Amino acid sequence: MKKEKMGKMQKAMLLCTVLPTLLLGIIIALLAVYLSRTALEKEVDSSLLANATMLQGILEEDYPGTYVMMEDKKQGIVAMFKGDKELTGNFALIDAVKESSGTELTVFYKDTRILTTIMKPDGTRAVGTGVNTAIVARVERTLEPLCVRTDVDGELYRACYIPLQNKNGEFFGMIGAARNAEEMTRKANAMDTPIWIVTVLGTLVASLISIRYTSGVIEAIRKIHHFLGKMVSGELHGEMDMTVTTREDEIGETGKSIVRMQGAMQILVERDPLTTLYNRRFGNAKLKHIAERSEVTGEGFAIAMGDIDFFKKVNDTYGHDAGDHVLKTVSDEMKRLMAARGAAVRWGGEEFLLMFENTKFGPAMHSLEFFLDRIRNAEIFYDGVRIPITMTMGIIEGRSDKDLGEQIKAVDEMLYYGKEHGRNQLVVSTDEEVAKAIREKWAEKEEEEVVETVITFPEDMLDSENLMILLANKMEKDIEGDTSDKEEVKEE
Ligand code: GH3
Ligand code: MG
Ligand code: MG
Repeated sequence: MKKEKMGKMQKAMLLCTVLPTLLLGIIIALLAVYLSRTALEKEVDSSLLANATMLQGILEEDYPGTYVMMEDKKQGIVAMFKGDKELTGNFALIDAVKESSGTELTVFYKDTRILTTIMKPDGTRAVGTGVNTAIVARVERTLEPLCVRTDVDGELYRACYIPLQNKNGEFFGMIGAARNAEEMTRKANAMDTPIWIVTVLGTLVASLISIRYTSGVIEAIRKIHHFLGKMVSGELHGEMDMTVTTREDEIGETGKSIVRMQGAMQILVERDPLTTLYNRRFGNAKLKHIAERSEVTGEGFAIAMGDIDFFKKVNDTYGHDAGDHVLKTVSDEMKRLMAARGAAVRWGGEEFLLMFENTKFGPAMHSLEFFLDRIRNAEIFYDGVRIPITMTMGIIEGRSDKDLGEQIKAVDEMLYYGKEHGRNQLVVSTDEEVAKAIREKWAEKEEEEVVETVITFPEDMLDSENLMILLANKMEKDIEGDTSDKEEVKEE
C-alpha cells in the first residue's frame, strides 16, 4: 500500500503523545533549573554570611568595645570608632578578608558605607554611598541577617547583611558581604546545560518512540480500512495484511475478528444455507472466473447440470424433511466429487451446476458417471427407511470464447433431453452418434492414460482422481459388457 499523507487521526495521536512529552520535559527541566539555582543561592548565602560573621569576629577581637559614631551637624559623618580605635579609613583589614574569601565586604553605619571593598566605576571606593533603604529598615526592625539581590552602582550583587548593635543593644549599622551576581549566573548557566541536554534528548527519544508506535497503529488501521473498503465493494476474497493479524494487541484482535467476519460473510453471501454448496449468484461469478482462467492457461473446463429424479415424489412419500436430508446427502457427495476438480453449485431446488476446472472433458465425464453410480447405490436413510435416488445430468465442454449463459442453456437442454429419455443417466450429447463417438474416444484415451499411470506409480501413490478414473473405466467396461443397459443415451 502506498504511503498516504498524515491523516487527522495520526495528527491527533501525535499531538496527544508528543505534546505532553514535550511539556513534561520542559516542566521537569524548569523545576530542575529552579532547584539547582535555589541550592546554589543557598550555598552562596551561607558562605556570604560566614564571611560577614568572620569580619564581625575579627573586629570584635582587634577592636574591643562598642561602636561609636562621631557626627557633625555641618560636616555629617566624621569618624567611626570601635572601643577607642578609629575604623574610618582603615581598609587594610577588610581588604585582607576580601583577599582570603573572594567576597566584597562593607561596614555600614545605618545605611551608609563607611568601610568597603566595592569600587565605583571611576576606581574609587564606594565609601559614603548608601544601601537600599528597605534593606536597612528590615535589618533594623528584625535585627536578623538578611540576604537579597541588590544593585550597587549599577552592578547586580547577591548580598548578605548582619546587624551591628551598640552597647545599649540599639541598631548601629550592618556588615555586608556581597558577590557579583553575573558570576553566579554564569556558574548557574553552566550547571543548567546538562539538564537541558538531558531534557531535549529525553523528549526526543520519547517523541520518536511515540511517533514510531502511532505510525504502526495508524498503518494497521489504514490496512483494516482498505480491507473493509474492498469487502464493502463486494470483494470477499481479499487477504488481510499479515502485519495486522500478527499484532498482539487490540488492533490485531480486531483484524482477526474482521477476517472471521469475512469468512462468515462469504458463507452468508456465497453459500446456500441448506446444503452449504455455492449459491446461484456466486456460481455465475465462479464460472466466469473459471472461463477467464482457462483463457489464460489454455487448460480445458467442463460444465455439467444435474437434477434429482422424481424429487417431488420423495417429498410426497417421505415428507419434506426427508427431502431436505436427501438434498444434503447428495450435496455432500457432490462436494467430495468436486473437491479438487472445481465447484458445485445449488442452481435451484434440486438442480445443481458443476464446474470442472483444468479438467479435460473425458475425465470430467467419467467422474460424473462414477458419481451417478454412487448416488444410485447410496444408502440414504431417513427414519429408518432407505430412500432410493437417481439423478439425470448433462455435460458439455466449456468454451471460454463463447457466451456462458448460452452454454448453461445448452447443458440445461441436455439435462431436459435426459429427463425426456428415461432419466437416471448422463447426457454427453443429444446426438446419439456424437455421444457414442465421444464416449469411445475418451474411453480409449483414458485407458492409455490409466495404463501409463499404473506403470509409472506404485498403487499406494495413486491419488483419488486417478482412482476415480480407474473406477470410471471399470464402470465403462462393465456397461459396455452389459447388453441390458438401458441408461445410456446411445442405447436410447
Ligand atoms: P423430475 O424428475 O422431472 O425432475 O421430477 P421432479 O419431481 O424432481 O421435479 P419437479 O420440478 O416436479 O419437482 C421438484 C420438487 O423439488 C418440487 C419442490 O417441492 C421440491 N423442492 C425444491 N426445493 C426443495 C427443498 O429445499 N427441500 C425439499 N424438501 N424439497 C424441495
Ligand atoms: Mg427433479
Ligand atoms: Mg428440477
